[in-house]
Amino acid sequence: HGGIGKEPPMSIVHISVEMAPIAKVGGLGDVVTSLSRAVQELGHNVEIILPKYDCLKYNHVEELQEKESFGWGGTTIRVWNGKVEGLNVHFIEPQNGFFWAGCIYGRRDDGHRFGFFCNAALEFLLRSGRRPDVIHCHDWSTAPVAWLFQESYKHYALSNARIVFTIHNLEFGIAQVGKAMANANMATTVSHSYAQEVSGSPAIAPHRGKFHGIRNGIDLDIWDPFDDPYIPVSYTAEQVVEGKRAAKSELQHRLGLQQVDKPLVGIITRLTAQKGIHLIKHAIWRTLERGGQVVLLGSAPDPRVQNDFVNLSHQLKNSHNDMARLCLTYDEPLSHLIYAGADFILVPSIFEPCGLTQLTAMRYGAIPVVRKTGGLNDTVFDVDHDKDRAQSQGLEPNGFSFEGTDAAGVDYALNRALSAWYDARDWFHSLCQKVMEQDWSWNRPALDYVELYYLAKK
Ligand code: ADP
Repeated sequence: HGGIGKEPPMSIVHISVEMAPIAKVGGLGDVVTSLSRAVQELGHNVEIILPKYDCLKYNHVEELQEKESFGWGGTTIRVWNGKVEGLNVHFIEPQNGFFWAGCIYGRRDDGHRFGFFCNAALEFLLRSGRRPDVIHCHDWSTAPVAWLFQESYKHYALSNARIVFTIHNLEFGIAQVGKAMANANMATTVSHSYAQEVSGSPAIAPHRGKFHGIRNGIDLDIWDPFDDPYIPVSYTAEQVVEGKRAAKSELQHRLGLQQVDKPLVGIITRLTAQKGIHLIKHAIWRTLERGGQVVLLGSAPDPRVQNDFVNLSHQLKNSHNDMARLCLTYDEPLSHLIYAGADFILVPSIFEPCGLTQLTAMRYGAIPVVRKTGGLNDTVFDVDHDKDRAQSQGLEPNGFSFEGTDAAGVDYALNRALSAWYDARDWFHSLCQKVMEQDWSWNRPALDYVELYYLAKK
């Protein structure tokens, strides 16, 4: 590995349409921010280029200033600069109003708007005299960077740059992904298992040689049970029992649930087919049957799914008002309290490129119960079945998992989890402590990315 001291620091520019916390829709936004921070901390120069949406959370942007403007693409491009979470961010604001739409995604011309952004971002890099070593683009939305660079920019002053492309979710924009794969110097996705699962896809198969899996991490400053404004008592691994008891009590109080000492299953997710909606519903009923409590925090982009869960929520209010609560909204502070207050976090995804919820769960001493797929398979090791696989990674088992996509599968994992809570409480508490001590930060994956950046330069 060529880290600091062996090779000079590199200059890396991310071109992205999401960035937490100012423009986050899903995991992509989290990854851009936390990967950048981790690589910057290793001594490299990292910058981010983002559209200047009207809906940015401007209260999280410091020192926002207009820096320059230029005419391009039939309009004026104004470029702003600001600091977000200690990162240097350039905001591209075309005066044709492409990003004055009140949303990040969801317009019929998303592809056109983002394509324009990719081109304007490269134009900005060229004109501003920046000479990055690596231009890192993400998913279908900034995939055009790869081919626009090869077609129009690499022959000029940007010729030093290499293109790295990361797939966060192959479900979207497969045509753009295929074209970017062909034009990138290196490509990654967010876990080893997901890399294997998608390697047969026609978009990827021809380019397997430059395709690598690097798992995501979580930002330990944002997710820290010892320093978290949204939980009642801070705790370390040694204090996991007391800390989680206080958080559970606060969660029950806040949501109007009964103040009982029963196993509490938390679910924090976008409600889409990918996340295993039928398995989520089944698990809610199974947990209640076994005397447990359930808290679901989820929002559905599809109004039919949202309606469906609103109905389920009413049904549960009638039958189990003090044992289950569905919070059908997006609420980051509440998510912190659920991670801290839950005994288990359920993630029964049909597919999952990496998944962040199971990692955050462990950081807060909540035990993951997951379907064995993608990044869930790479980070959750079943206490009964994966001892050897965990050991080969220098880890101990840390959760419960299942295969298949039917109710029997999720029952198999959930029943073992609940039984452990009821019948082997001391063992369960030691498991909570153990998972808190595992390192799911960016420390290791950031080194892997830096190594990949150096490889791209060779
Ligand atoms: P995806 O990117 O597919 O949505 P990930 O597990 O990679 O899934 O990332 C999801 C992130 O969004 C996690 O940080 C999770 O805590 C958060 N999240 C998901 N749904 C909600 C919600 N309704 N309220 C608050 N946070 C949420």
